[in-house]
Amino acid sequence: SLLDKFERYPLTFGRTAIEHLPRLTKELGGKVEIYAKREDCNSGLAMGGNKLRKLEYIVPDAIASGADTLVSIGGVQSNHTRMVAATAAKIGMDCVVIQEKWVPHHDAVYDRVGNIMMTRLMGADSRLVDDGFDIGIRKSWEDAIKSVEDRGGKPYPIPAGASVHKYGALGYIGFAEEVAEQEKELGFKFDYIVVCVVTGSTQAGMIVGFAEQNRATSVIGIDASGTPEQTRAQVRSIVDDTAELVGLGRKVRDDEIVINEDYAYPAYGVPSDETNEAIRLSARTEAMITDPVYEGKSMQGMIDLTRKGFFPEGSKVLYAHLGGAPALNGYASYYKDG
Ligand code: PLP
Repeated sequence: SLLDKFERYPLTFGRTAIEHLPRLTKELGGKVEIYAKREDCNSGLAMGGNKLRKLEYIVPDAIASGADTLVSIGGVQSNHTRMVAATAAKIGMDCVVIQEKWVPHHDAVYDRVGNIMMTRLMGADSRLVDDGFDIGIRKSWEDAIKSVEDRGGKPYPIPAGASVHKYGALGYIGFAEEVAEQEKELGFKFDYIVVCVVTGSTQAGMIVGFAEQNRATSVIGIDASGTPEQTRAQVRSIVDDTAELVGLGRKVRDDEIVINEDYAYPAYGVPSDETNEAIRLSARTEAMITDPVYEGKSMQGMIDLTRKGFFPEGSKVLYAHLGGAPALNGYASYYKDG
């Protein structure tokens, strides 16, 4: 394994389940078999999700640094800050998270339910600030780091989405290796993997992991950032840094980084009618719950690409369900009638 030389602190249950989605498959015409890998059910920590796979490789470094406080940043309904708060609670550290106003919203309880409520319950110091959406490094975050130092603490900074971090993409190399193992047991291989991309290290890790198996081009990123150039540049640089870190032994080619920009509209964190239709279809056929910010968009992308015939007949498509359902609570106004 590319990961043998890296320490991992377990936060997840272990391998995640791969399940066939027969009713969704049938609904989409039956020519392409749809499966899901359930990263959303990967842990008992505060409802889990993709960030825990990343954080498993970051925690050993945090502990070794002698830090006493994890510091991170995301939107008000950030899954990532929920997962950092969960990790801090679990390993006995303090936690400060900056929650930016990334998304316009009209639900009165938006900043009190779902992710942010769980973050607060787990004891994190959650600070709401006024800045808008940006996947880059922010001043508010630097201020938070300094505030921990000012009170005599030792912060361990984790950037948005745990992405621009030396070890942030290792966990999803593990995903690629795990898929290969599971394929042996299943007796077939997946032709495509569909994954939501915003801050980039989930897809970047998959790309490096599947590049080792010479099939990174089968990873189809569905952009949900609405700022695809920035996301693409970030995936490119994380891929390069991570390939070097793990000793992949070659440069990943541009054509191995596949990102589809067609489904992020109208904006990050705002579902289109098609996003909401995709959320309903997944829920009604498979009881698989997706959210309006991330997985609803990648579900929308997978549904549309399947209907359009993008995947050749007979393909097996693996939808990586990365979590995120808690955010639905902040979007109740869209779903009053189901
Ligand atoms: N899906 C969910 C539920 C997320 O919380 C995130 C986090 O940003 C993503 C997808 C996108 O992953 P990444 O930021 O690694 O690109």
